[in-house]
Amino acid sequence: MTAEHEVVVVGAGFAGIAAALELEAAGIADVVILERAGDLGGTWRDNTYPGVACDVPAHLYTLARHPWPHWSREFAPGAEIQAYLRRVAASTGIDGRIRFDTALVEAHWDGDAWALQTTRGARRARMLILACGRLTEPSIPQVHGLAAFPGPVVHSARWDPTLAVAGTRIAVVGTGASGVQMVPELVRRGAAVTLFQRSAPWVLPRGGRTYTDAERRRFASRPDVLAALREDLFQEGEARHASRAGDAAAAAAASDQALAHLRAHVTDPALRASLTPNYAFGCKRVLLSDDFYPAVASDAVTLEPSALARADADTLVAASGRRHTVDAVVLATGFRATRQPYADLITGEDGISLDEHWATGMSSALSTIVSGFPNLFILNGPNASLGHNSSLLMLEEQAAYAARTIAARPTGAILRPDPVAEQAYTDMIVRRSRTTAWVTGGCRSWYVDERSGRLTLLWPGTVTEFRAQLRAADGTEFLREPATERSTTP
Ligand code: NAP
Repeated sequence: MTAEHEVVVVGAGFAGIAAALELEAAGIADVVILERAGDLGGTWRDNTYPGVACDVPAHLYTLARHPWPHWSREFAPGAEIQAYLRRVAASTGIDGRIRFDTALVEAHWDGDAWALQTTRGARRARMLILACGRLTEPSIPQVHGLAAFPGPVVHSARWDPTLAVAGTRIAVVGTGASGVQMVPELVRRGAAVTLFQRSAPWVLPRGGRTYTDAERRRFASRPDVLAALREDLFQEGEARHASRAGDAAAAAAASDQALAHLRAHVTDPALRASLTPNYAFGCKRVLLSDDFYPAVASDAVTLEPSALARADADTLVAASGRRHTVDAVVLATGFRATRQPYADLITGEDGISLDEHWATGMSSALSTIVSGFPNLFILNGPNASLGHNSSLLMLEEQAAYAARTIAARPTGAILRPDPVAEQAYTDMIVRRSRTTAWVTGGCRSWYVDERSGRLTLLWPGTVTEFRAQLRAADGTEFLREPATERSTTP
């Protein structure tokens, strides 16, 4: 018999756990979470490369309902974040709702509910919440000869803990947040690194220190102190928005700081020139690191300031024509973000998939609902990412919106997102992003869909604005027709 549920959540990372917590708080008990892996944690389960950490302050990279006074440092390492999420799931009993090793194979609207096929049988859900993550499927560059490379080739999100590092010549391909975190740690562990940099990143100093025991005790005994710290961190994040969005004065000040950071650590003029970005500040994620430039300037790193073009046995050939012989390759080449892997698994009421609906790039109303896909909420999907503040703030807001909307739904009513609301929202995003660095800054990034040039992943405003719009949602984002009119129960 097919299991039936009020709500099925897909994914047990931060978004899925946040959704389950919000649903519980809204009094909705019949909830299961499908998780394709054998553990929860999403990105923090998958990303275990050396040096993995979060460059968002830990006390802001914490679920609002579950403050954690015991973070070891201002910027937490990945394993500590994973342990935090496990602890939240266990202490709230949410872990009991997770069905592990259960991947969604496909879901379609059957006129009344979502019919799901999973690797462990069929389920039916009145409401479906996709919390599948946005940076999950590695983007593997098509590099001629790489398949025949004689040594290990791993992606940053599929790190192999048995990979020898000390005394090994390792090529790191990519200088996004993952590559920049990894290179200094590989050097510390004794590797000789060749870094393939297709475009130089903007890097700001990170700072961050270990909390003392006394501080942690104080956070534990004084929730008001912890709350005030979190609020300060939130406001600092919001203040960064202007420089990331391309406000001329704010971007000039921040890029001056980044260039001073580069000058302070890299004295060789040629190396410095290679590490100087050639696109606008903020165009893609601005990186925070104190040890990247010193590592690149050290003897342990060879900077190859061009793309990996091909592999010739154990020799990697750069676009510049230079050749580098290495023992292992780490692809820090990012993820398939603009075409989300879940999108072709979901078929809406007109028989078309989310991927087809998004043929020119992702779109939504309120970054959370999509016309043609009734009773469906997507967390962390279209225009819900951030470059200036904690992404948890966004997904928690979406989770709360979904839970309130589901709880307020009259029994049996079907929530059909209004296509007019979706078009208006998409037009608003285009309007707001038209003159920003994300669209005009001259870089290539996963924020923008290459098919349309639209900003499809990033939310262009502040978190405060995002919160305000979701909290003001009054149901007019859904069609007003009676649910039964279009219902075609089989
Ligand atoms: P990414 O930002 O998409 O960077 C991928 C890198 O690979 C880019 O530098 C890209 O060059 C390069 N690349 C791709 N193909 C290449 C080739 N053939 N040769 C040389 N370089 C090549 O990926 P990511 O670093 O994994 O980061 C993805 C996102 O994860 C981040 O934006 C961030 O949101 C998140 N993240 C966050 C943290 C954190 O601390 N909060 C840490 C890690 C990751 P181009 O720049 O020229 O395209």
